[in-house]
Order: sequence, then structure tokens, then C-alpha cells
Amino acid sequence: MDWSNRKDILVFLEQKEGQPIRSGLESLTAAKMLAGKTGGKVIGLLIGQDNGQAAAVSAPFAAQVLSAQGAAFSSGANDAFVLALEQAVQQTNPAAVLAGNTPLGREVTARLCARLETAGIQDVIALSLEGDMPRWTVPLYGGTILQEVESERLPLVATLRSGCFVKPLAGSPGEITAFPVEVSAGDFSVKVRETVREIAQQADLESAQVIVAGGRGMGSAENFALVEQLAQVLGGVVGATRPAIEAGWVSRDHQVGQSGKIVAPALYIACGVSGAAQHLSGMTGSGYVVAINQDEEAPIFDVADVGIVGDAVQVIPAMIAEIQARREG
Ligand SMILES: Cc1cc2nc3c(=O)[nH]c(=O)nc-3n(C[C@H](O)[C@H](O)[C@H](O)COP(=O)(O)OP(=O)(O)OC[C@H]3O[C@@H](n4cnc5c(N)ncnc54)[C@H](O)[C@@H]3O)c2cc1C
Repeated sequence: MDWSNRKDILVFLEQKEGQPIRSGLESLTAAKMLAGKTGGKVIGLLIGQDNGQAAAVSAPFAAQVLSAQGAAFSSGANDAFVLALEQAVQQTNPAAVLAGNTPLGREVTARLCARLETAGIQDVIALSLEGDMPRWTVPLYGGTILQEVESERLPLVATLRSGCFVKPLAGSPGEITAFPVEVSAGDFSVKVRETVREIAQQADLESAQVIVAGGRGMGSAENFALVEQLAQVLGGVVGATRPAIEAGWVSRDHQVGQSGKIVAPALYIACGVSGAAQHLSGMTGSGYVVAINQDEEAPIFDVADVGIVGDAVQVIPAMIAEIQARREG
């Protein structure tokens, strides 16, 4: 592949409450890998009403951070985001455009691809640079099949799954450059009339470093509270299988799996979870997996680093007591 005209890698750094989100920062790692091949540099792009804080946090991870900022870039104003991204591509002429595989990341990159008449690759979990062209690994059918994808169109456009690339090490802060974008009322095809905040706190499983998940094997809402206690002691987030949710032990936003969330924490503790394919497809990107199940033949043990054969209702309190004793000691 000829990179002589396009060298730099542009990364859309999505933000939440003034902070760049994890999958955006992790995309900078893939961007650095690509930049090593193209001989270019990594440029972050922030789009928002006020990028001040996010720019300061992002700068140590990129050679340059472009900041498209202003009232037009309110939450939900995705048309303006697409416009800013397209203008940043026109200015930087990148070899690749990367973003986190979030709803916003997927939408803006897909619309960018339509405008640039280039190909987009979504939900990338790995990147190989061994051949002439970058090769992207994409899971299909809930992760039961992994597909290797190449694209010859430049710029390459891809969204990367959270947790599959590590956050890069901080270096000397890159230059933060204001990136003015002209946005007029005619640029908006969708108008956000009102934004209603969900009253219930959504479980942030995608960013969690520790997840303690409970399945049908917990047996009752009372026992499921043990899963919540262990998560609390470890500073983690509660995950669940579909049957645990259907039993009403925990709300639906905690579901991990094919029809739930795709997670990749550093530590995943599965309690009373059998390890059905539909659940595994949501958590096999986890770093270290501990499984507690009283059936030693349970498939969850095939993906576990540590397997505990036993009754979770007895094992979890013992784990909590041991963790607390070690902390106090
Ligand atoms: C289209 C489709 C989409 C789906 N999407 C999802 C999804 O997103 N997420 C999801 O999780 N499921 C999903 N499912 C359901 C999935 O197929 C499984 O039924 C489900 O994951 C099983 O949940 P479980 O492990 O809690 O229950 P079970 O399979 O019933 O397993 C319970 C386990 O607990 C163990 N156990 C029992 N008592 C104890 C105890 N006291 N201590 C320790 N272990 C104990 C048992 O040995 C058993 O292995 C989907 C299914 C379909 C068809």
C-alpha cells in the first residue's frame, strides 16, 4: 500500500462529561501502530461545546489535538459532528480515521464513509500490520466467528471495540489546536428538541475494569445481593446473564452477552454462570476470568483463568471476608 500521500492517523476522541472516553483513548494505541507503518503522526479530534478539560487529558497521548468547539456541538447534534469530522479529514488528509465502537462513533464514521465514498470497518478487536495492508479482526455472530478484513480504500475508517487495545502511555503533551468549523442551521437534518436524562443510573459495564457477574445459579434475589457485595468490595460493576435479569434480580442494563453489552474488563468474576455461547460472546475480551460454578463440567471453565468448583452462595462471602482481612492486615 502506498502511504506517500496519506500518512497521519486521525482519531475521533469522543467525550463524556468533559473526559475523553476510554475507547477513544484506546484507539490512539491502534493509531500509533498504524502511524508506525505509514510514517505519520497521530492527531486526536475533539468535538464538543467545551473541550478544555478533554483536550488537556488527551494531549499527552497524541502528537496534536484538534479542538472543534462551540455551541453547535451539543449532545445529539450528530450532523455537526459529521461535518467537523469531514472537515478535519479534508485538512489532515489522513491514512486512517479511527473512533471508539460506540453508537456515536459508529454513526459518525459510517456517515463519513458515505461522504468520502470509502469503506468502513466496525467493531474491530485486533489489528495486524504484518502484511502490506493493515488487517482488522472483526467478530461475527456474537463472537463465534472472527473475520479478518482488509480495505484498499483510503482513508481507512474503523471503529474499535472498548477494552481490546490498551490505553497508550502518556508522552510529552501534543499541541492543542483550535479547529474552527462553520456550522449553519441548514447543516442539521435532525433537531434535538429536548434531552431527557434517565433517572436510573445506567450501569457503565463497557468502561468497568472489574465486573462481577451473576447467573441463574445464584438462585434468588437474596443470593444475588452477594454478587453486588463482591462488586462493591472490589470497586467493580455488576453484570448478569439473561436469566438473572428475567428473574428480576437486577435491571436489564446489567446484561452481558449477545443481546446485552460487550465488555472487556481487566477482571471478570462469573458466579453461577454456565457459560452459554450467548453470554461468552459478550465477555471473552476480559483480561482475567474467575468462574465459580458447582458443576465442574460447566463451559464457563473453558474460558476461565481460575475455576472454583463450589456453591457460589458459600464461596462469595468467603472471598469477601478474605479480601477484607487482607486489606485490614
Ligand atoms: C438470541 C439469544 C440471545 C441471548 N442473549 C443473551 C445475552 O446477551 N446474555 C446472556 O447471558 N444470555 C443470553 N441468552 C441466553 C443464553 O442462551 C443462556 O440461556 C444464558 O446465558 C444462561 O444463563 P445462566 O448461565 O445464568 O443460566 P444457566 O445456563 O441455567 O446456568 C446456571 C449455572 O449455575 C450453576 N449453579 C447452580 N447453582 C449454583 C450455585 N449455588 N453455585 C454455583 N453455581 C451454581 C449451574 O451449574 C449452571 O452452570 C440468549 C439466548 C438467545 C437465544
